[in-house]
Amino acid sequence: MVAVHPTRAESAVSPEPVRALKPTLAGMTRAQMGAALKAAGVPDKQQRMRVNQLWKWIYVSGVATFEAMTDVSKDLRAKLADHYMLERPEIVAEQVSIDGTRKWLLRLPKRGHEVRAPEVECVYIPEEDRGTLCISSQVGCTLTCTFCHTGTQKLVRNLEVEEIVGQILVAKDRIGDWPGATPPGDGAMLPVSERKITNIVLMGMGEPLYNFDHVRDAMDVASDGEGLSMSKRRITLSTSGVVPEIGRWGEEAGTMLAISLHAVRDELRDVLVPINKKYPIAELLEACRNYPGVSNARRITFEYVMLKGVNDSLAEARELVRLLAGIPAKINLIPFNPWPGTDYDCSDWAQIEKFADVVNKAGYASPVRTPRGRDILAACGQLKSESQRVRASERVAAPVSDATDGGA
Ligand code: SAH
Ligand code: SF4
Repeated sequence: MVAVHPTRAESAVSPEPVRALKPTLAGMTRAQMGAALKAAGVPDKQQRMRVNQLWKWIYVSGVATFEAMTDVSKDLRAKLADHYMLERPEIVAEQVSIDGTRKWLLRLPKRGHEVRAPEVECVYIPEEDRGTLCISSQVGCTLTCTFCHTGTQKLVRNLEVEEIVGQILVAKDRIGDWPGATPPGDGAMLPVSERKITNIVLMGMGEPLYNFDHVRDAMDVASDGEGLSMSKRRITLSTSGVVPEIGRWGEEAGTMLAISLHAVRDELRDVLVPINKKYPIAELLEACRNYPGVSNARRITFEYVMLKGVNDSLAEARELVRLLAGIPAKINLIPFNPWPGTDYDCSDWAQIEKFADVVNKAGYASPVRTPRGRDILAACGQLKSESQRVRASERVAAPVSDATDGGA
């Protein structure tokens, strides 16, 4: 369970795990849906038309029942219902921060030999001019950035395409972000001013470039103009620096890019972001210079977490500016979000301002990102679920007791 702050955070908890007995169509790509229809006995020559119908119901209208699909024959609806569901990932807990940020803990269907259903987190951040959904790409993470809460959770598995898209569907359900959504009367609606997902950031749990194909296909679904219609310019993938995949991501997915830089010297970045030992700063920046489509209108965001006494000196601010010279860049200074058990502290506010000053004077508008949802551990790097990888030797001993490590 994630920590529930008693103040004004509300939470809704569903205790019973729902088993996914049938595959869900909600979250599938067109190709997957075509194959699903074929398996349900739909003749080949009808497939395209049928996929288009389903696509519209699922991704434009957001329906969650086959009965609602009024232009699909009763016969086919029954056939589809025999084989498939329209279920989204199950909401285990929903928390609402005093600043309006919402965090969902989602339970995914078990796969293969999994003894426990894995869980991931997804966060919605409403702002005046936008609504950003932060989604996860993996359960846990193979990398071990020392300041990141997710990094303390071993990788359990990659998310499937429909589990990535499913996070968007769940969020839209809960905040009433479908056309004509009527207030369901159970707290699912947000005030109009806080509604609507306009941006997606792949900044939840996991390293998205280590789940490349599924994340790419999921973003194709999200950006499909006949469906969810998210503009790729409003989708940002954040990577710790998987250099060999950066260019390919630009070519195949073409979203905006954010780089978790966090240090300007290799010796320090080796510690903070250990993938740096494999792909050092110079190689990372070279991949950024060559990122397909990069321009002043499509800048790369460099994330820099402010760690007191670790990476926050003014000399480092100047070095940061020097390093990024020539790259169309934005700089995001992120106040460190503490989590239980961390040894790091957030830089003092005065120091963050001085650091930001150096960066601003060099011509970067670098608003310091206000931490959102800190009271519900929904801010950057605070996400963590209790899913643990269960070793083969443990699989036989069901039921497995809660393998928690006192996490979030
Ligand atoms: N794995 C990817 C994306 C998820 S992390 C990556 O590392 O880029 C999203 C952002 O939050 C990254 O920039 C990450 O470095 C940062 N982050 C992690 N832990 C944090 C913390 N405790 N406080 C502030 N930012 C953090
Ligand atoms: Fe993984 Fe990103 Fe956290 Fe590093 S910062 S451990 S890559 S989720």
